Amino acid sequence: MSLDHSEAGLVARVSHLTKSYGSAANPVTALDDVSIGIRSGEFTAIMGPSGSGKSTLMHIMAGLDTATTGQAWLGDTEITGLPDSDLTILRRRRVGFVFQAFNLVPTLDVRGNILLPFELDGRRPAREESAWIERLIDSLGLGDRLKHRPHELSGGQQQRVAIARALGTRPDLVFADEPTGNLDSRTGREVLSLLAAASAEYGQSIAMVTHDPIAASFADRILFLADGRVVDDRPRSSAEEISRLMLTMEKAA
Ligand code: ADP
Repeated sequence: MSLDHSEAGLVARVSHLTKSYGSAANPVTALDDVSIGIRSGEFTAIMGPSGSGKSTLMHIMAGLDTATTGQAWLGDTEITGLPDSDLTILRRRRVGFVFQAFNLVPTLDVRGNILLPFELDGRRPAREESAWIERLIDSLGLGDRLKHRPHELSGGQQQRVAIARALGTRPDLVFADEPTGNLDSRTGREVLSLLAAASAEYGQSIAMVTHDPIAASFADRILFLADGRVVDDRPRSSAEEISRLMLTMEKAA
């Protein structure tokens, strides 16, 4: 499918997306007619209260879950309707993930974890990719930890390994799911600064799901979800402004 002008510069988008769970007699609507685009090179936060549909939206955009109706694209590839085998390859090559629980492989050392996406794709990094990975290791301060295994690292260090792993293949889009949920606030801010820097300095597109106004304040743009619908779309805002908006939404609900 070719993209028209208004869709240029979008790294991912969804159109009239709905997702229902439960039986026909007793449906739970997790997403209700959501249409949004994630802009290339930006750090976008998807925020909303618990149960608003953030995880469901992220999972469908990342090809981890299927929509009930509507369409999702990564770049110009429509992913709704792709067979699982194609989705697996697409995720491996074009998407990076940073999870709340870090999700590192306990038996691999730091370098092994960072190189895992290449390993899974059955290849070694090319010369340029190796140089990029060394640069990431350096800028994330992991140079003296490469032989350590995850259990020998602090939570903040583990999340930095996960960020290096997510950025290593230079994916089209990195999805971060509550990336600071298991970190103390100071370490959490460091991790958010690193994500913001990856976007500002390397042009990495990032979509981060969070319910935390401080985390969302690091993003270039904030999409607000409530009851499965997009209810607001704001440029960079302070944590105080975001908290106020959240309160207004909760009162309106
Ligand atoms: P959030 O990430 O904002 O907390 P979710 O996307 O997890 O929200 O959930 C949105 C809604 O969909 C909630 O009402 C939730 O209970 C429901 N939901 C999510 N996953 C499932 C599931 N596997 N089965 C049934 N209901 C679900």
